Amino acid sequence: MPSRRVSPILAHAEAARVWKLYGFQEPQDLVLEDLAWAMGVLVMDGPLDGADARLLRKGSRGLIRVKDTLPERGRRRFAIAHELGHWLLHKNISQVLACTSLDMVAQYQGSEPEIEANYFAAALLMPESLFGPRVRGHRPSAERVKSLATAFDTSLTATAVRCVELADDYCAVVISEMGQVRWWRASADFEEHFWIDPGTPLSHHTVASSVFRGEPVPNGPEEVDLECWLPDKKGIESRFIVEEVIPLNRYGQIISLLWLP
Ligand SMILES: [Zn+2]
Repeated sequence: MPSRRVSPILAHAEAARVWKLYGFQEPQDLVLEDLAWAMGVLVMDGPLDGADARLLRKGSRGLIRVKDTLPERGRRRFAIAHELGHWLLHKNISQVLACTSLDMVAQYQGSEPEIEANYFAAALLMPESLFGPRVRGHRPSAERVKSLATAFDTSLTATAVRCVELADDYCAVVISEMGQVRWWRASADFEEHFWIDPGTPLSHHTVASSVFRGEPVPNGPEEVDLECWLPDKKGIESRFIVEEVIPLNRYGQIISLLWLP
């Protein structure tokens, strides 16, 4: 099993430093375009081929161009925060960085700067000091993810990932598309037990698979045989895992929130 190669410590510390430096208290204080401008970076929307966002650096000034066809505000905000991560953390890597939608979810197999930029973006948009207390001690339910996404003005996917990152439970989030696992994250406790190769077809008995087949979205979490998600169980004794799905219709994707009962 590949291990997490990139430590989030530097990126998280940098995001916390920004919140402190500008005196932000609440998510509403974080107006990304204003913050970028204060750092010498102009944000503009425009056409971009093959990338969600691009950072151009010239000395102490920068330009972030965000693809003008990104379909939702939360994804645009994540892209800007990701580029600000490059701006602050990767001065010496390249003067032009173009980042794709895959870079925006990079972890494990991604390149180190992309992973670091994502750690920074998540911590800037959803600081642990504010987000953590609303997650710890709670299951990452669809209702909780949706309400946090509204409160922090973030995409459902980024919010679900942050819930799992900061959870103190055995839980995971899996993003699937066309009946296959696209990528996933697991909580720190669950990580050593949880591994699914991207591209793996979903078991027919998962809730996500049933929704892909056109069945109605269940109104709440359901118990699923653990083997449906983890065929070799990896030392977990529970027979079941709980799954709740959030369909992302505009992307043809489904978020599965998973936790051990
Ligand atoms: Zn990037």
